[in-house]
Amino acid sequence: MSKLQNKNENETMEKIVSLCKRRGFVFPGSEIYGGLANSWSFGPYGVELKNNIKQLWWKKFVRERTDMVGIDGPILLHPGLWEASGHTAGFNDAMVDCKECQWRYRADHLIEQATGKDMEGKLVEMSAILKEEKVKCPNCKKSNWTEVKNFNMMFKTQMNGIADDVYLRPETAGAIFIEFKNILDSMRVKLPFGIAQIGKAFRNEIIAGNFIFRVREFEQMEIEYFINPKEKWEKIFEGWLLAQEEFAYALGADKSNLRRYEHPKEKLSHYSKKTVDIEYLFPFGWGELFGLANRTDFDLAQHGKFSQEKLSYFDQEENTRFIPHVLEPTFGLERSVVVALIAAYNEESVGAESRIVMKFPKELAPVKIAVFPLLKNKPELVEKAKEIFNTLKSDFSCEFDDNGNVGKRYRRQDEIGTPYCVTVDFDSLENGDVTVRDRDTMKQERVDIKKLNTYFNSKFN
Ligand code: ATP
Repeated sequence: MSKLQNKNENETMEKIVSLCKRRGFVFPGSEIYGGLANSWSFGPYGVELKNNIKQLWWKKFVRERTDMVGIDGPILLHPGLWEASGHTAGFNDAMVDCKECQWRYRADHLIEQATGKDMEGKLVEMSAILKEEKVKCPNCKKSNWTEVKNFNMMFKTQMNGIADDVYLRPETAGAIFIEFKNILDSMRVKLPFGIAQIGKAFRNEIIAGNFIFRVREFEQMEIEYFINPKEKWEKIFEGWLLAQEEFAYALGADKSNLRRYEHPKEKLSHYSKKTVDIEYLFPFGWGELFGLANRTDFDLAQHGKFSQEKLSYFDQEENTRFIPHVLEPTFGLERSVVVALIAAYNEESVGAESRIVMKFPKELAPVKIAVFPLLKNKPELVEKAKEIFNTLKSDFSCEFDDNGNVGKRYRRQDEIGTPYCVTVDFDSLENGDVTVRDRDTMKQERVDIKKLNTYFNSKFN
C-alpha cells in the first residue's frame, strides 16, 4: 500500500472517525480505561451498518445461489489444523524495533515507505537494507535497528482438557475446510459448490492502524469454492473477481477507486496458481479490500493428511474419486465498513449553510425512515407520529425523534444517512397526509398516511 499521505487525505479520515464517534457508529475500544491498542467498538448505527453489509453479502453469495451453502464454525479449533495449514510455522510478519526509542514496526512496511522497495518475505535482505540505506525511525528519526525477526501473528490461549496451546483462529477459512466432509455427507452438494462463512478472526498485527482498516480482531466473509481440477478454472476465477467488484460497488465504491493487483509469480505461495487482491483507494492510499486465490488442492490434501480422514470427492458420472481444487474469495468486513463510510461521506452547501450527509446505498443505511412530530409538546402530533412509527417499524428500520427543531433533526438524520424523514404536522391531522423528505435531493412531498407502507416498499425494493 502506498503510505503517502497529504493533509486533505488525513483530514477526510479524521472527519469520518470523528463523525463515527459523534453519531454512534464506531467508538475507540476500552476508552474509559485509556484505550486498548487500536481496538474499536461498534455503536448502535455501526452495528446496523455492519449487519446490513453482512446480510447483503449472505443474500448475494448464499441465499440467491444454488451452488452455495453456509456454515458458522467455532473460533477455537483443533491445534492440528494450524499445523496442517502451515500457520503455526509460517503465519509470520517481519518485525523490527528501534533501539533508540523502542518503537516497533513491520519491517517490510517501514522499508517500502522509506525506499519504495517491496521486500515482503525477505528477512535477511531487510536487515541489510535498513542499515545500508540508513532508514530512519519515523518516531525518533535515528537509524539504529535490531535484526529483523519473524513474528507469529496468532493469538495463543489455553483450553481446559487440552494439553497443547490453542489459538484464536487467524482466518475463518480453516473452519470451512474441516467441515468439507460433513457438508458432502449431509447436503447432497455436487461440484462446483462453495461453502461460505462470516465470522471473527484474530491477528496479532505488529502495528494496527488506519482506523478499523487494520485491527487485531475483525470479521471476514469467506468462501471456499470447490471445483473439479479438470475444470477450466480461469473463467470461474474471473467470475469471482467480477462478483467481488460488484459487491464493492454495492458498498458505494466508485469504479475509479478500485483496482486489481495480481501477485507476481515469485511472491505466490508454492500451492497457489494465482492470487489477485481487489484494492481500494482509501484516503491513506491503496489498500487490500478483498482477495481471491486459486489454492489448488493444498488445503484439503493437507487436512486429509494430518487428520487421516478421506477429504476427497466421488464423481458418480465419471466413477472417479479425487481431491477438488479450491478458489477462495475473501472479504474483510471492517474494510467493507470503511469503504461504505468513505463512499457515503459528503459535505454539501445548502444556501448559506452546509451539511454533512452520509449517502449510503439505501439497503445499507442503518435507519431507513425517521418519524417526527413537528412539535414535541403537542400530544396530538406526538400520538399520530407514534402511530405511524408503529405501523412502519415492523417492515423498516425506523427511528422516532422529537428532540430539538425539525432542522436539527434533519441534520442528525443526514449524518447517520437516513434516506427518508416523515414529519407529522397540523395538516396531517386535518388531511391525513405527512411530509416525506428525501435525504439526497432534500425534496419534500406530501404522502397519504394510508399509503405510506406501499410508498416506502416501492422506494426500498
Ligand atoms: P494485508 O496484506 O492488508 O495484511 P492480508 O493479505 O494478510 O491483508 P488476507 O489474509 O487475504 O489479508 O485476509 C483476507 C481479508 O481479511 C483481507 O482482504 C482484509 O479485507 C481482511 N483483513 C486481513 N487482515 C485484517 C486486519 N488486520 N484488520 C482488518 N481486516 C483484515
